[in-house]
Amino acid sequence: MEDQSCSIVEIEGNLSSNCDFDSYDHNSPWALDIGGSLIKLVYFCGEDSGLEKSSEKSVGVEGVGLVTNSKNYPFLNGKLHFAKFETSKINECLDFIESNLHGSRCRDQEVSDKKKLMIKATGGGAYKYADLFKEKFGVRLDKEDEMDCLVAGSNFLLKAVPCETFTYIEGQKEFVKIDSNDLFPYLLVNIGSGVSMIKVDGDGKFERVSGTSVGGGTFWGLGRLLTKCQSFDDLLELSHQGNNRVIDMLVGDIYGGSDYSKIGLSATTIASSFGKAISEKKELEDYKPEDVARSLLRLISNNIGQIAYLNALRYGLKRIIFGGFFIRSHEYTMDTISVGVQF
Ligand code: ADP
Repeated sequence: MEDQSCSIVEIEGNLSSNCDFDSYDHNSPWALDIGGSLIKLVYFCGEDSGLEKSSEKSVGVEGVGLVTNSKNYPFLNGKLHFAKFETSKINECLDFIESNLHGSRCRDQEVSDKKKLMIKATGGGAYKYADLFKEKFGVRLDKEDEMDCLVAGSNFLLKAVPCETFTYIEGQKEFVKIDSNDLFPYLLVNIGSGVSMIKVDGDGKFERVSGTSVGGGTFWGLGRLLTKCQSFDDLLELSHQGNNRVIDMLVGDIYGGSDYSKIGLSATTIASSFGKAISEKKELEDYKPEDVARSLLRLISNNIGQIAYLNALRYGLKRIIFGGFFIRSHEYTMDTISVGVQF
């Protein structure tokens, strides 16, 4: 939260070659984060594994909610590949793992070795789906605590990747160089299905100080019910075309078009999200889905921005780092959160 703006972790920065990969376990080249909404998957394959070809095939598998991406790390002699799936479609993730196992190091090993394969896993799904993985692949999920992983990952990226954070204000993305000696303490706000706010004091030193259940799952879930959109991407796209003023009650709606300047509220400030719906004799069908989606996005993003700001104030933290798939690459969402923080 430098200069009252919010910083957002962009998780796809380029890792510098002096990163500490000593603890990397080459026998366990797959790792999963199985969250409430999404499964995030990363796997490593060496140059000689032939996985590149199989991975290229999997890029662009449409309709299964899969996006793959890969990063080449010559100093590791291989590539890290990233993919995501909707958690509700876990079977597609299992099929993906199965069809790509042949390219990873483990495929070339004997069956007995395969049985020894461990997949690192975090998130609630590491517990919920442990038996499923055992049945399907005969592999054990090696569980890691999700908050530990989140903080370790965030600290790692912030220290290892130059300009990993950026502010996003009024359409302007600006990278911020953080001095790794001046990183702590900071507030880490992870916006997934729900929202966790974590005060990070150092490596392995953190406390979850707050959170809210009104998060990415709320946007997707409530948005789907209200607009009938079938996918998150469609819902988000819809919200970009909408106008929240049609359904939100603004200060100006209450004050006959004027500001309430005495207490610093402009006429365009949202006084009550969705508030106009109470005074109009309209049903849901009378509102455009894009306006509903826009109001919902603003409601949730503003709320998160304000709660984050108040927690930063409460603990005297000068910097807030936002992360999680709710904001990832979603510029309007990041902008709205910035407005919430600044407001
Ligand atoms: P979790 O670990 O709880 O699943 P994530 O950090 O993966 O949390 O974020 C999940 C949220 O990200 C969803 O609830 C949704 O709001 C948002 N999201 C962003 N992109 C997508 C997408 N392509 N499909 C589904 N949800 C998405």
